[in-house]
Amino acid sequence: MSFMQKLREGFRKLMTGRRGADELSLALLIGGVVLSMLGSLLRFGLLNLLGLACYIICLWRMLSRNLEKRYQENVKFTTAWRKASASVRQFINRMKNMRKYKYFKCPECHALLRLPRKVGEVTVTCGKCRHAFKQKA
Ligand SMILES: [Zn+2]
Repeated sequence: MSFMQKLREGFRKLMTGRRGADELSLALLIGGVVLSMLGSLLRFGLLNLLGLACYIICLWRMLSRNLEKRYQENVKFTTAWRKASASVRQFINRMKNMRKYKYFKCPECHALLRLPRKVGEVTVTCGKCRHAFKQKA
């Protein structure tokens, strides 16, 4: 058996029963790199320490055998990440179209709605809850 085969076999045995990298582990790794770089650039040791903590947690998660708990953590993280990125996308769209549309919330369900500017007062029916109300734009 060559050295590379032994190495591959050893790694396979090490990773048996472990999940390896998931989205949360990858985010921790990227967060660790960013924090370490910022800590070095700003010469702020606490950021380097936080970056190191991210690396350690990432490695611990990858090598953990408690798959169910790691899976639940990853689901929580990906759900929160999707919500946050949707909010950021929505905010960017709002800023882009600020001159074309007036944005407002439905008084019943607080869904975000929009009307083209300069249409005057119109009756709006919310697409989510079907509540109808008057709105100026
Ligand atoms: Zn509504």
